[in-house]
This record gives sequence, C-alpha cells and structure tokens, in this order.
Amino acid sequence: MVDFSRRKFFTRKPIADAAVRLPWLLNPEQFTDLCTQCGECVKACETQIIVKGDGGFPRVDFAIDECTFCYQCAEACPESLFKEESDTPWQAKADINQQCLAKQNVECRACNDMCESMAIQFSYGVGRVALPTLDHEKCNGCGACVAVCPTSSINVSNVTV
Ligand code: SF4
Ligand code: SF4
Ligand code: SF4
Repeated sequence: MVDFSRRKFFTRKPIADAAVRLPWLLNPEQFTDLCTQCGECVKACETQIIVKGDGGFPRVDFAIDECTFCYQCAEACPESLFKEESDTPWQAKADINQQCLAKQNVECRACNDMCESMAIQFSYGVGRVALPTLDHEKCNGCGACVAVCPTSSINVSNVTV
C-alpha cells in the first residue's frame, strides 16, 4: 500500500516566489518547471540585474540596478517563457517601509530623484520633514528607487491583481 503522506518528499520542492523574478513572464507559477537555468537571460541583461537565485533560477536584484525594460532577457531566452513586449511586463510594485529616513524625521529624498514615473511624492507635515507616499498606479516596478535608498527601505514585490 502506498503511503501518500510520504509523497511530498518526492515531489519537486516549490521555490518561494514572493520576490520579483523576470519581466514579461508568461506563466510565473510554472517558471521553475519550465526554465532550464541556461543563463542566457543573465548574460543578456543590459543592467546586469539578473542573478541566479534560489535553486539556480534567475531573478532580478534591484540592489544592483534597475530594470530598463529593454526586453533583452526575453529575446535571449531559448524557451517559450515570455510574453510579447507590448504586454505589461509584470505586476511588481515598490513599497517603502518604516526604516525610511524621512519616516524617522531625517531629511532624505533620494528615491524621489530616481523615479521617472513620478510615483513617489513628498508632502510636508507640521513640524517634521517631508514624507514620501508611493502611488502604485504610477509605479511600474522598475526598481530604480531601491539601490539609492541609504537605509534599504524600499522593496519591490509582486502584487496580486
Ligand atoms: S528587461 Fe532588460 S534590464 Fe530588465 S531584466 Fe530584462 S534584460 Fe534586464
Ligand atoms: S534564458 Fe530562459 S531558460 Fe535560460 S535561464 Fe533565462 S529564463 Fe531560464
Ligand atoms: S519601482 Fe520605479 S516606478 Fe516604482 S517607485 Fe521605484 S523608481 Fe518609481
């Protein structure tokens, strides 16, 4: 008789996927089943932000730089893993956590200067430095704000739509 309680030991270990993996993925849920880890996307990325992550599968690392949406990773991939360039690249959005200097009442606008989409806006309150607010509608998840933050307070992650 088969012991079904042991089956989980023999199935492929799922890779935790809260992190942003690659833009334009056709089927992010099945990515780790279909990607062959050939590394062509890593070589093609113009900002060199694609690294080998958990289990050797590629993912972007915004601590290195931003995604310029150049589509080179998709062009380089020999598998059918990517959508058309005209499609929305991903549902990735940035968030600013409580480590933010401005939230500690210390003047800082480094992220604001990097955001071409104008998704980060600063507004003054009484007796304190200007605070950032992040507009998810405008944020395209490019990650340009991440590496410049002196307290590593910005995280880009996939949002559920
Ligand atoms: S779209 Fe370009 S910059 Fe962005 S991850 Fe792909 S290759 Fe890198
Ligand atoms: S080029 Fe495609 S198959 Fe190769 S590692 Fe990148 S996503 Fe995976
Ligand atoms: S991820 Fe890009 S678009 Fe979003 S807030 Fe940061 S710099 Fe702006």
